[in-house]
Amino acid sequence: MINITLPDGAVREYPTGTTAMDVAKSISEGLARKVLAAKVNDTVWDATRPINTDASLQLLTWNDTDGKTTFWHSSAHLLAEALEFYYPGVKFGYGPPGEKGFYYDVDLDGQTIGEEDLIKLEKKMAELAKNNSIFERKEISKADAEKYFTEKGDQYKLEIIERLADGEITFYTQGNFTDLCRGPHIPNTGFIKAIKLTNIAGAYWLNDEKNKMLTRIYGVTFPAQKELEEYIILMEEAKKRDHRKLGKELELFAFSEKVGMGLPLWLPKGAMLRERLQQFLQKAQMDSGYLPVITPHIGHKNLYVTSGHYEKYGKDSFQPIKTPQEGEEFFLKPMNCPHHCEIYKTSPRSYKDLPLRLAEFGTVYRYEQHGELHGLTRVRGFTQDDAHLFCMPNQVKDEFKKVIDLVLYVFHSLSFTDYTAQISLRDKADRAKYIGSDENWELAEQAIIEAAAEKGLNTIVEYGEAAFYGPKLDFMVRDAIGRKWQLGTIQVDYNLPERFDLTYIGEDNAKHRPVMIHRAPFGSMERFIAVLIEHCAGKFPLWLAPVQVKLLPISDKFIPYCQQVQQELKEVEIRAEIDDRNEKIGKKIRDTELNKVPLMLVIGEKEMNEHKVAVRRQGKGDIGVQSVEEFIAMVNEEVKSKRAIE
Ligand SMILES: [Zn+2]
Ligand SMILES: [Zn+2]
Repeated sequence: MINITLPDGAVREYPTGTTAMDVAKSISEGLARKVLAAKVNDTVWDATRPINTDASLQLLTWNDTDGKTTFWHSSAHLLAEALEFYYPGVKFGYGPPGEKGFYYDVDLDGQTIGEEDLIKLEKKMAELAKNNSIFERKEISKADAEKYFTEKGDQYKLEIIERLADGEITFYTQGNFTDLCRGPHIPNTGFIKAIKLTNIAGAYWLNDEKNKMLTRIYGVTFPAQKELEEYIILMEEAKKRDHRKLGKELELFAFSEKVGMGLPLWLPKGAMLRERLQQFLQKAQMDSGYLPVITPHIGHKNLYVTSGHYEKYGKDSFQPIKTPQEGEEFFLKPMNCPHHCEIYKTSPRSYKDLPLRLAEFGTVYRYEQHGELHGLTRVRGFTQDDAHLFCMPNQVKDEFKKVIDLVLYVFHSLSFTDYTAQISLRDKADRAKYIGSDENWELAEQAIIEAAAEKGLNTIVEYGEAAFYGPKLDFMVRDAIGRKWQLGTIQVDYNLPERFDLTYIGEDNAKHRPVMIHRAPFGSMERFIAVLIEHCAGKFPLWLAPVQVKLLPISDKFIPYCQQVQQELKEVEIRAEIDDRNEKIGKKIRDTELNKVPLMLVIGEKEMNEHKVAVRRQGKGDIGVQSVEEFIAMVNEEVKSKRAIE
């Protein structure tokens, strides 16, 4: 017999060789129908794999990330089986699960596949799923594994096997398909009830441009048809909100191949929006005791040798910028921290100077492969709302609390109301891999946990997720259509103060090492704005909208009065434009609605004669006639209160 410890701490006795599925059945049949896999002593396992020793056991269902991952991974095998049916001789690369679905990279051996073929593959997958084929696990020797794939003629799997050690190789077979796989999988294919193959793309084998281009087939599957329907609605909504599409329509930003891929060009309206956000944060930072600094876009090689970035990113990054002087090399700035460390060192610091909070909207450059670039979310040049707080170890908690306040102020002002905080701490079992004294780590980890608790944050603690140089807190935000984004990060660093030999004179008159905290509420301006666009579907709150008011004259006759009102608005810093096109008023209103301008003023005879404006609100329609003074007061009040997006 073996002892199985369940997540609630209960210990139950089962026969040796029992499976997670047996355990589930012993609890309830209903539960057993939902079990996709299990966590056995912290490793995800097949629910059907025998357990032979005492173990802790967590049953995984669709509601667990690991459950979903196992489900999608297993679906990739099902796709492979369907592919083999229609494309004999197809060879398989990798077929991993992702955040939303799975893909399989395949070499179709000269055969072609188009979007229209996806439907027949989906149908085949559904048919195969109904066979309830189990995923049969088999340990296999390296020689036998090689023999199998040599006979099959799959050079990709052979390449993967080559890198594996004998004794750690397993095959999984479902129906007519056998794959080299470490597992785990769902109990049988019958769990897969709804299937959608979403996309076909090209992908180099092993992500290397020198290798053959394989065909990547993306898909997503669900345990119920209803979930697929919800997913399709969500995808359509996401498409409408895509920041790349809205960025073009609202004239916010553009890309030019001549300037270079992944290097965004901010158009006047986008720049206006971005500047509003910067000013908003700058003001909040000034109020919280930050000091502005400005540093150059490049730095001498020695700076990055000292910081360690040269060693870490050197050859995978942009190449050095050389000067006419022999041996002199500069690099595009990948991070602002090294520059800020040098600012810290410009004068001797005492404990009275700390915390020292240096803030900069610093533009950094990081090399990303072509294929990785995506709108504003993956770029090669971006601006961080960066700041570095240099403090004493016992000040970490207070600084964290202040940064949390700042991040929450940002979120609330932009109506991100659903967020959680992830605290990343050391791996309890392996403390040797972290730099900095045990005592300081203890202090900082405790400080972060307490700061988050005192601020009432909903937190998840992850052990082993800390960087080697310090623990951190990341904010995960859920947007208006339920997608999760990581925004805002606060990170303790013991490494850079060491590398740059930063010191302060303590109360005891001795030299001490300050702690450095990196923090960025937005993260990067580019990525943040991308998320914001998708969150509010381009309908920015009034205080942020690039154009707040559109004046719509009923005919040319009223243009001079519109110009007069525009001038009055301009004097109180309200951003207004006039639609002076020779178009019908109905069309002007429709176009302004589409451009998501928050307020429209329809101007005709009556308005002109009485110094009034007829106000319409985007998405809401007519809200009545007001005097210009009343209108200004309304706008000012709304801008000042940063009222949330409705
Ligand atoms: Zn697998
Ligand atoms: Zn930094």
